[in-house]
Amino acid sequence: MKTAIVGAGAMGQLFGARLQLAGEDVTLFDTQQRTIDALNSSGISLETEKGTEHVSVKARRAEDERGPFDLFVVFTKGFHTRSAVESVQHLLGPGSVGLTLQNGLGHAKILMEFFGPEHTVAGVTDFPADLEAVGRVKSSERGSVRIGSLGPQGHADEVAQAFNRAGLNAKVESDVRIPIWEKVAFNAALNSLSAVTGKVVGDLAKSPDARALISAVLAETRSVAASEGIDLSVERVGGAVESAFANHAAHKTSMLADLEAGRPTEVDFIGGAVVETGRESGVPTPVLETLCRLVRIRTAN
Ligand code: NAD
Repeated sequence: MKTAIVGAGAMGQLFGARLQLAGEDVTLFDTQQRTIDALNSSGISLETEKGTEHVSVKARRAEDERGPFDLFVVFTKGFHTRSAVESVQHLLGPGSVGLTLQNGLGHAKILMEFFGPEHTVAGVTDFPADLEAVGRVKSSERGSVRIGSLGPQGHADEVAQAFNRAGLNAKVESDVRIPIWEKVAFNAALNSLSAVTGKVVGDLAKSPDARALISAVLAETRSVAASEGIDLSVERVGGAVESAFANHAAHKTSMLADLEAGRPTEVDFIGGAVVETGRESGVPTPVLETLCRLVRIRTAN
C-alpha cells in the first residue's frame, strides 16, 4: 500500500518505521526541512524493549511529491490537522483513504471534508512515542490501535490488516466513537490537571483534591458524550487512570511537557473540544472549562 505519513514527528516516525519495516511503500511528509533532511540521510532508529531496529525512509515536503497515495495517516498535532490535510490534497486519488489516530476530537470531521465519509477512518492508539532526536524514536512493543470506519463503505478492515502485518496490533471497532471519547476523557482529566499544576502523574495520584477534580471531569465528559449518543464508561476510564497512577507515576503528560517547553498545547482539541460540544448541546462542564482556561492562561505569553 502506498502510504503517506502526514506529520513526521514522534508518532509519524514510529508508524512510518513500523509500516516501512513491514514492506509498505511509505513516504513521510513534514514542513520542517531539518526533519526531512535528517530522515532522508539517516533513516529512523526505533528503540523498544526488543532492541533497536533501523530503517531507511523517504521524507518529503508535500509540494515536492506526486500522488496518488492509497493511505494517508495524519499525525500532526491537532492545531495543524487542517493545514496538513490541505497541503497533501493534490496527492489524493479517488480511492485514497484518510486515517487519524490523533488525540482529541474534530480531526475525523476535517478528514471527511477531503476524503469523504466513506474513505475516512478514525481511531486511537496507546503506543507511546518519544523523539530522542530526529530519526531516533523510543517506543514500546506494548500498545494497540483501535479504529473504525465513519462511512457505510468503510476501509477500516484493510487498514487494520496492513497495520497488523506491521505488528501494530490493530482492532476494528463497531462504534469507534467510544474509544475516541474514552481517550479524550482520560486526557482531558490527566493532561489538563497536570498542565495546570505542573505535577507528574504519580503526584496527582497522591492528592485527594486531584482525584476529586479527575472524577468531576470524567463525569462531565460522560454527560457530554451521552448528549452525542455515546455511552462512555466512567468505570473503564477511571480504571485506565488508576493504571496510569500505578504504572506511570513518573510520567510527565504531553500537555505539561509542551507547556514547559513553550510549545502550543492541544488543549482546544481535548478538554476544550469537550467543553465546546457540551456548550452546543446545553451540557455544562464547569470544572473542565476552568481547567482549560487555566491551561490557556499558563500558555499565553
Ligand atoms: P509531534 O509534535 O512530535 O509531531 C508532529 C509533526 O507534525 C511535527 O514533526 C511537525 O513538524 C509536523 N507538522 C506540522 N504541521 C505540518 C503540516 N502542515 N504538514 C506536515 N507535517 C506537519 O507530535 P506527536 O507526539 O507525534 O503527536 C501527533 C499526534 O498523535 C497528536 O495528536 C498526539 O496527541 C497524538 N499521540 C501522541 C502520542 C505520543 O506518545 N507521542 C501517543 C498517542 C497519540
